[in-house]
Amino acid sequence: MSDMTADLTPALESTDDALPSGSAEAPAIPPPVLDALRKQLLNRAAALRLELAGAQGQAALGRDEEMDRVGDRKDAAAEAVRLTVADAEMQRDLDEWHEVEAALQRLRDHRYGLCADCETAIALQRLQSQPAASRCTACQQQAEARH
Ligand SMILES: [Zn+2]
Repeated sequence: MSDMTADLTPALESTDDALPSGSAEAPAIPPPVLDALRKQLLNRAAALRLELAGAQGQAALGRDEEMDRVGDRKDAAAEAVRLTVADAEMQRDLDEWHEVEAALQRLRDHRYGLCADCETAIALQRLQSQPAASRCTACQQQAEARH
């Protein structure tokens, strides 16, 4: 019996020592902060899904109205512009929704907070203002300069 106790003690000590202190795998984001970011992303994804569902409904209605007034060219042009603006907004929402979903996937994969390009940890401040950010500031600037 005393032998078992003697065996357990060093095992427990080594478990404590093996706790990751600064592993290169995951960025050092404190769990409560990570949790808050996850909630922000989930809320944003839900809000965007609602917006996109509403925008699709409105676009369908807009097209019906356009059919009724097809003879009025001025109105039709205004309507076309309105629909184009709505489409652009919808596209932006759709793009953001994809980014948010990708960020949630990275959270599930334990890769969240790592730059997609250079794989260094993204500054926590940046993640807190933009939870869906997939690149560090430097790589984001480079990516935007390419466009
Ligand atoms: Zn980077």
